[in-house]
Amino acid sequence: MSDTTDGKKTLGLRGGPRSGQVKQSFSHGRTKNVVVETKRKRVVVPKPGATKPAAEKPAATPPAGGDPSKRPGGISDAELDRRMKALAAAKARESEEEEQRATEERERAEERERRKAELEEKEREEREREEALKAKEEEDARRLAEEATAKERAAEPAAAQPEPDAAKTGPKPSASPRKVDREREQREREAKPKAGRDDGRRSGKLTLNQALRGGEGGRQRSMAAMKRKQERARQKAMGGQENREKVVREVQVPESIVVSELANRMSEKVADVVKALMNNGMMLTQNQSIDADTAELIVEEFGHRIVRVSDADVEQVIDSVDDKDEDLQPRPPVITVMGHVDHGKTSLLDAIRNAKVVAGEAGGITQHIGAYQVEQNGQKLTFLDTPGHAAFTSMRARGAQVTDIVVLVVAADDAVMPQTVEAINHAKAAGVPMIVAINKIDKPSANPDKVRTDLLQHEVVVEKMSGEVQDVEVSAVKGTGLDQLLEAIALQAEILELKANPERAASGAVIEAQLDVGRGPVATVLVQNGTLRQGDIFVVGEQWGKVRALIDDKGERVSEAGPSVPVEVLGLNGTPEAGDVLNVVETESQAREIARYREQAAKDKRAALGAATTLEQLMANAKESESVSELPILVKADVQGSAEAIVQAMEKIGNEEVRVRVLHSGVGAITESDIGLAEASGAPVIGFNVRANAPARSAANQKGVEIRYYSVIYDLVDDVKAAASGLLSAEVRETFIGYAEIKEVFKVSGVGKVAGCLVTEGVARRSAGVRLLRDDVVIHEGTLKTLKRFKDEVAEVQSGQECGMAFENYDDIRQGDVIEIFEREEVERTLT
Ligand code: GDP
Repeated sequence: MSDTTDGKKTLGLRGGPRSGQVKQSFSHGRTKNVVVETKRKRVVVPKPGATKPAAEKPAATPPAGGDPSKRPGGISDAELDRRMKALAAAKARESEEEEQRATEERERAEERERRKAELEEKEREEREREEALKAKEEEDARRLAEEATAKERAAEPAAAQPEPDAAKTGPKPSASPRKVDREREQREREAKPKAGRDDGRRSGKLTLNQALRGGEGGRQRSMAAMKRKQERARQKAMGGQENREKVVREVQVPESIVVSELANRMSEKVADVVKALMNNGMMLTQNQSIDADTAELIVEEFGHRIVRVSDADVEQVIDSVDDKDEDLQPRPPVITVMGHVDHGKTSLLDAIRNAKVVAGEAGGITQHIGAYQVEQNGQKLTFLDTPGHAAFTSMRARGAQVTDIVVLVVAADDAVMPQTVEAINHAKAAGVPMIVAINKIDKPSANPDKVRTDLLQHEVVVEKMSGEVQDVEVSAVKGTGLDQLLEAIALQAEILELKANPERAASGAVIEAQLDVGRGPVATVLVQNGTLRQGDIFVVGEQWGKVRALIDDKGERVSEAGPSVPVEVLGLNGTPEAGDVLNVVETESQAREIARYREQAAKDKRAALGAATTLEQLMANAKESESVSELPILVKADVQGSAEAIVQAMEKIGNEEVRVRVLHSGVGAITESDIGLAEASGAPVIGFNVRANAPARSAANQKGVEIRYYSVIYDLVDDVKAAASGLLSAEVRETFIGYAEIKEVFKVSGVGKVAGCLVTEGVARRSAGVRLLRDDVVIHEGTLKTLKRFKDEVAEVQSGQECGMAFENYDDIRQGDVIEIFEREEVERTLT
């Protein structure tokens, strides 16, 4: 911008270039020419340093002097005059402002002075007040000291001590302290802070411990603290010794206790307990818990006595006395119907219910509460209305052995199917007797004898085959054979001699539970022992409650429910889970305490999950504990042949200490029901060329059931053997890194079949191993020939993206198949 346009032609100026030029001067001798374009009049704006003297400071006065001779051409006198006036006015204004600023500044300074004075005044007053206080305090302290000294050493009069000096508070050097040195020290410390802020206060570092021990050498005391101190001193002087007489308490401490609760039980201040913990090197808040050992330390420190109790003791109030024989009375059997899907479980349950509910009762059973009772020749039978294995095993897993008899439904027109086998194994694992109901005999294609012979293969020998298991031919649709079935059940019940004591406090199991909009949490409870009555206080799982109402399977309110009777229970404080055990207790506080304890225990258990049923742990447990000499496992395989081979191989493994027991073996994907059985029996699941389906996978994760996949029987056998003998070597472990679903199959000349896939989980990696799964069964294992994203060969495809995949040397791929992508790594195994 500077040094421009000199000599240059400007646009639109009639008067030539020179006439419109202004030279500007700046400090340091810099100048600048400005070309001004004029239109009608040639008016050149005069600029601050248009004149020579460059030294002139152009502060706020543009053309300071306005010398007419130097006046730029074209400016009229009138104009100049106006400008000069304006200038003068501006100057006047400026000096005025200057003056005002000065005044303001002065005022401000005065104000500051005043404030300072006020502050000082205040401080002085405060100091005086404090000094007065201190004097008073010292007076007290001295009196106290005098008393003490008088008591202890009559020969040395207290008056001889330099107390009077101390009252002067100033920066008095400590004169050889004697009996009352503590008080004096304290006093001096307090006397200092105001007078010499920078000595006593800053000289020593304030440590946490000092602060905790009452601020020795620490911060300045507040007025309130002073007052408190005085008050204390006064009390002490007035024979406060008695107050310090401590009540020694017996403090009950469980395995772990929350700090505030411990304080509460000792009747001590929470802050004191926290302080004591800190003094012992533990930084805890009042809401954290400490173990019993730490608690003992603290309790003793406070001079109380500790009484250790086990957490589980709270459960002891639950009446667990064995019933005397003479108190026992027969109770109805509880029956669960199991079998393969579509073999007619639901139909059979409905048929029994409809046929047997007293005909005269209007509407019959109006309500589904998860169980119902029927009568057969005067004997009551209780049916669980939730068919299927999941319910059965989940209840067993939760500790409720509810079922007395299993009715195994097998369709006569079909055969023994995978779930039939599963049901058999569930019943066996639970040690519950079975009755076989051969259903659908009304069908022309029915072949009951085939069912009987099929069952032989699974070690179920029915009566007709000279065995012990009762078998009845029924038709759920036609209603035939129902009486015989019920009679068979009644007979079985008789053999079992089921008994209970209706006179004791009730216990039972939750069959179903839900949160009802209108009624709150509702649980269907099957009473197993004793009698549940309205008004009873109970604990159920992690919940508790007081029976507000009982509703039976006919939807009617009843006042009590005896053994084997299912009832809906209202009055819970929360929703329990199926399989939870209900116990009646005496008081509400007991119920509450147990529920709280269980909740905590469950939390701890969940936290420790993962430490559940792994093969290694089971083996370790089996070896450790003498009672556990069996390792239960579940086997699922791709074909019957391999399942059998595995079972045989497994059963051969074992020595005097440990034996492998195959709880259940089957063909096909690992299902939720398998996981349920595994959990209930604490067994791992072995998948041989099969995979767990999605629900099973999540159930296994949730319940901490281990699933192990194998594709070579020797590997499996070796693993189990190694685990059994405790020789766990490095293991090649597979990790599944991704799954892809085949959406479409293309034929590409030169390449062969290419799968158009969507990566559904994880990542597909070109270098990884792959398996082709059809219905969760492994049908091929190998490597990839190609992994394409659009037209490009890529190394990896992420979840959610589409890609093309082709197998090396394998072509049988179909839409809907799943590709499993895995990597192998060697891991050092440990026995944990
Ligand atoms: P679930 O899956 O075991 O509970 O079986 P369902 O009770 O739902 O029955 C499956 C199918 O078999 C239904 O269509 C029933 O009507 C039919 N079904 C059940 N029992 C019989 C029977 O005794 N005879 C005939 N013909 N069909 C039956």
